[in-house]
Amino acid sequence: MGVGATGCELSKNLALMGVGKLILIDNDVIELSNLSRQMLFTDSDLGKSKAVVAAEKLKKMNPWIEVESYFDDVRNLDEAVFEKVSAIASCLDNWPVRRWVNSLSVELDKPLVDVAMEGFYANLQVVIPGKTACLECHGEELIPKEVQLAECTLRRRKPEDLVNDLMESGVELSVEIARKLFEQNIKTVYDLKYAQEDVLRKLDDEARKAVRGIREKLKPKMPALQSVAALIAGVASTEIVKILHEGGLGEPVSGLLVYDGLSGRFTITELERNPECFVCGDLVREKAVSFPVKPNETIIDLKRRIAERFSIPDPEILYRRWRLADAEKVSEVGFRSGDLIYVNTSRRFMPLPLRIVVEDSEA
Ligand SMILES: [Zn+2]
Repeated sequence: MGVGATGCELSKNLALMGVGKLILIDNDVIELSNLSRQMLFTDSDLGKSKAVVAAEKLKKMNPWIEVESYFDDVRNLDEAVFEKVSAIASCLDNWPVRRWVNSLSVELDKPLVDVAMEGFYANLQVVIPGKTACLECHGEELIPKEVQLAECTLRRRKPEDLVNDLMESGVELSVEIARKLFEQNIKTVYDLKYAQEDVLRKLDDEARKAVRGIREKLKPKMPALQSVAALIAGVASTEIVKILHEGGLGEPVSGLLVYDGLSGRFTITELERNPECFVCGDLVREKAVSFPVKPNETIIDLKRRIAERFSIPDPEILYRRWRLADAEKVSEVGFRSGDLIYVNTSRRFMPLPLRIVVEDSEA
């Protein structure tokens, strides 16, 4: 789990309850603004790895538990790290990684407790792979439109586009720095807000400073609230204890639980598992989703349609172990109906298999 506001609370609860082994994964370092809501950290920890410091504090709280920490992006870790876990808690602040963790949990068949918060609101969803809805089952309705849009544009952008987008929010950026950001694939305001620490480390000092400055300016007026983090992490830790007891303490919450701190209300929206979901649906797990291709379209056209259909920004197509080049035409590749292609994307743990249906070419 990540160790931000909810992750600190959640890991503290599990450590005090004596949950035998915790694995903390976070590629962020501790910043001053974190201290008002990340109770495992103090002044003397500034600049250090959240995961490493949190692990030390938790071991002091309860020396009888084991805590493993990774100062890294969860997507870089070896599959073996997750093989033995009984449950995964996300505690993340951005959709790209939440979607990746959702697919990890489904593909490894591990229960997931997804927790997220913003201002006075928080939500929680328990995903039991193959039994309950996953985060993508109703992604079209539940993933915010702004995120979906950022997710599905196959990037043919120029540095000037980023400069203009920022200008609309009243933030200035020079084209020169925008160019440097593009080299690291930071191409939209969304990328700017959520680029991971290891990407920022590749920028030069000037560009990194610019990113931090812009983030500060784009920050919502309402910060994350410690009280809301504590509350939703309290619910999440209880759900994890229930999962660990495998039914002995009742079933985990089903559906999407939303807490509205302003009205003091909890609501639960029932979510049905979507059999056609492209992450957890039976179709994708057994037979692969069918996808039509046109003989005269190019691979980049095909990628664009795949990006739109599945809300992924960076599809790479693998066919018979080959990575297909953008300029190639479908008719030149030699696809036949029934063939499988695999779509690689940073939004999934494993590539998405698609079964090709070659459509008749029209004039
Ligand atoms: Zn699903």
